[in-house]
Amino acid sequence: MLQTIQRMESEVRGYCRSFPTVFSTARGSHLTDVDGKQYLDFFSGAGVLSYGHNHPLLKKRLLEYLESDGVTHSLDMATEAKVRFLERLDEVILGPRQLPYKVQFPGPTGTNAVESALKLARKVTGRERVLFFTNGFHGMTLGSLAVTGNASKRAGAGIPLANATPVPFDGYLGSEVDSLDFLETALEDSSSGFDKPAAVIIETVQAEGGVNVAGHEWLKRLAALLKRHGVLLIVDDIQVGCGRTGPFFSFEKAGIVPDIVCLSKALSGYGLPLAVVLMKPEHDIWEPGEHNGTFRGHNPAFVTATATLELWEGEGLTPQTEAKTKLVETQLREMAENHPDLVVDVRGRGLIQGVELVDDLAVRLSRECFQNGLIIETAGPSDEVLKLLPALTTPEAELKTGLDIISSGLDAVARAHAA
Ligand code: PLP
Repeated sequence: MLQTIQRMESEVRGYCRSFPTVFSTARGSHLTDVDGKQYLDFFSGAGVLSYGHNHPLLKKRLLEYLESDGVTHSLDMATEAKVRFLERLDEVILGPRQLPYKVQFPGPTGTNAVESALKLARKVTGRERVLFFTNGFHGMTLGSLAVTGNASKRAGAGIPLANATPVPFDGYLGSEVDSLDFLETALEDSSSGFDKPAAVIIETVQAEGGVNVAGHEWLKRLAALLKRHGVLLIVDDIQVGCGRTGPFFSFEKAGIVPDIVCLSKALSGYGLPLAVVLMKPEHDIWEPGEHNGTFRGHNPAFVTATATLELWEGEGLTPQTEAKTKLVETQLREMAENHPDLVVDVRGRGLIQGVELVDDLAVRLSRECFQNGLIIETAGPSDEVLKLLPALTTPEAELKTGLDIISSGLDAVARAHAA
């Protein structure tokens, strides 16, 4: 069956090369292929399936909605499903955190949210330049690519990517240097050649860029610096928001309040496309329809997104995620201790964890894991980081099974590497 994909699907295809089988069903943390082989999923559709595949509560709500002939498509007309989603978002997430954000539905994918955030920041400030961080990843459309670090992705644009400048992420210049010293000096020096930017866009944990974690104090300093200079802070929480790092928003523990937040991926909870841009009310200066799109708010996605909020009442999934994080971190550190020559670093926050390996071992380990029934991807500029992204709902026993597969896989690639 893969031959059909090879014959017909464009060469641009990606993950079906890394995980070469044809999947047919999925439940919880498992995918099953057409030959009946089961795979444990530590990839979760690049962070989309934070509640696992076909979560029973979300499926029930979705099926009830479809059975009742609930509206599926409505452009951005008002629907009951949208109203309910907004009300519950306010009750469960925004209200308790005292975040009175306005909500924009920009189109269904992460890059739509990023494009809108960039446009809005430029419109609000009247400035053109946006600063982004080394190793940042924000999507594949032209505006998002302009604020993305990866050279080969940028080259795909085929035209110059303008009005964006990279600055060093936390730790980029080594642990001895606070990389914000440069930004602070440049912003404060009228002859630094640095045009005052409209905004800075950041992932608090750079996911595709290699699981690079920004420290809470560093984020606080960044937010304060930008505030002093009237530069907007955009947090791209598309991959590490919705509970991935523990709290619902990845920036909560840093105690900062971004001007604009982008969410997508796990927002609908079911793998249905949905994205939002959250903005401080004073920045909501859009003209009606100034940014639009056909699929702004897909009602079945509103229904499943609303159902996920049942899991976020009170403390939500945070305590569970923190307990699971400890388990994962402990086992990864043991692995690192067993292979000090091969493991360069273990890092992450919550249930996004990265294991940086020497040479091409991360790619080899991902392949070995796939052979042994675990789906796990790589990240970083040279795919040097094995990236763990299990569903937040993965039971501890399944987390342990996956970690054991990684551990024995690492032993195997280490033997091959030594030979
Ligand atoms: N921003 C971040 C942080 C991402 O990780 C991604 C996708 O991986 C995007 C934006 C782009 O999202 P999409 O692929 O849905 O356009």
